[in-house]
Amino acid sequence: MKTNMKSKVVEQMKDSNQSGLVDMDEAISHLKTTRPTFYRWLRSGKLKGMKVGRQWRFYKEELDRFLKGEGPRIELSSSPEPLLKSISDKLAELGVKGWNTAADGEKLKSIVQGMISLGDSMRASDIHISPHPVAGDLMANHVLLRYRVDGVLRTVSEFDVRLLQPVIDEFKSMAKCDLHERQHPQDGRIIVKVDTGRKTLDLRVCFLPSTIGETVTIRILDSNAVKLDIDSLYFTQKNLDNIHKALNLPNGMIIVAGPTGSGKTTVLYAFLRSFEKRNCLKIISIEDPVEYLLEKTVQVGVNVHAGVTFSKATRAALRSDPDVIMHTEIRDREQLQLLQNSTLTGHITLSTIHADSAAAAIRRLIDIAGEPWITSDTIKLLLSLRLIRILCPHCAKPDEPSQETIERAASMARAGGLDWSSLPHVYKKAAGCPKCAMLGFRGRRGVVETLMVTPEISSLIRNNASQENIQRAAIEQGMTTMVADAIRRFAGGETTFDEVLRVTR
Ligand SMILES: [Zn+2]
Repeated sequence: MKTNMKSKVVEQMKDSNQSGLVDMDEAISHLKTTRPTFYRWLRSGKLKGMKVGRQWRFYKEELDRFLKGEGPRIELSSSPEPLLKSISDKLAELGVKGWNTAADGEKLKSIVQGMISLGDSMRASDIHISPHPVAGDLMANHVLLRYRVDGVLRTVSEFDVRLLQPVIDEFKSMAKCDLHERQHPQDGRIIVKVDTGRKTLDLRVCFLPSTIGETVTIRILDSNAVKLDIDSLYFTQKNLDNIHKALNLPNGMIIVAGPTGSGKTTVLYAFLRSFEKRNCLKIISIEDPVEYLLEKTVQVGVNVHAGVTFSKATRAALRSDPDVIMHTEIRDREQLQLLQNSTLTGHITLSTIHADSAAAAIRRLIDIAGEPWITSDTIKLLLSLRLIRILCPHCAKPDEPSQETIERAASMARAGGLDWSSLPHVYKKAAGCPKCAMLGFRGRRGVVETLMVTPEISSLIRNNASQENIQRAAIEQGMTTMVADAIRRFAGGETTFDEVLRVTR
């Protein structure tokens, strides 16, 4: 058996020699390079080889292409045309010009560039490429190309699973990742030009092997998102007044509550930018991870492996004469206690917490801290937030909601402290046009509630009051709930009732 195998390899090697294949030593001397450099080229995909038995073999022709500065030739076992066509049709539908399919042999580059351009023109936050079983046929797999737009995932194309690895390898080589690593997750970064070179995108790429093949997720970082200031978030005047009042206090804790992807970080950065504008505050933010760079804030990235934890960084921050300390998220008691103690010693502290409402966030703080008094003495403002999709202003059509919908909306508004009769009552529904990628919605705005901790609320906290009692007291004091704020956008023709239910359920 063993001899058989050996002779087979020898046979193959004989064949190889005839077909212009050389071994690694010959290839290295042909390229006049060193072994480590050669391995680097191989790992990065600049150079393509094949394994014959255990030995690497290289086509002389490929080595010559490399010497001439040309990329490796990629043999596609399935035609890329259908995928290329579906991407270019979609781009044409959205009116994207200047995206040309590259020359033959560069089809893969066209596909990948098209996928990225599509993400940009759809205003997507993420591009997802992953293999899945075909419905009804567990033996067959296909690949889904999906985009997350305004928080909702949409399938844009499906393609032949045989194209998956070449597409992934193209992304890996752009992200300077190891092409031969297919068993472990990898992360990379791609800086790429779109819109005929007028726009530069910053992409974070994550490769994650699944049981039926590798997947890639591309996050498109939108640097405009962090340029937001509080006044451009479309909050109501009452909410803005509360926020400005809290930001101008000499000390105290401000907490932003919401689930993942609710826009908490955007609001937190907007708060930091507002502190930056005052030009007289030392701001230290401890982040996990640092995603956007701020102008006048000392940003520290948490790195548990290197021993930089929230706690350790905060202790060092406190010795660095700060006025403002921010943590991206409160996760445990030690971290919360550090922030609360910093607040008691005269600092402004900011953070986020996973909670469904402002009142729920207060309960979470009391529960994490293990005692109510320190929360009552430190917390000044809680803001709870969701992002709601806004109807595309270019194509939304007038709508007449049913009586049942109107009644439900009215009762949701009243329960949330909003005067239903004061609203404009212009209703609209989604249509679809190229400006909104045919989705009917374009962009998102925050729906919020701001809970100011008045002496009355503070004493409720000290007495360990329930979430319901805190919520009731806040509404009596004039808080409009997040649900009611969403209803306000519905009755103003900015969004639909279904969208209100989707984000506030
Ligand atoms: Zn539209």
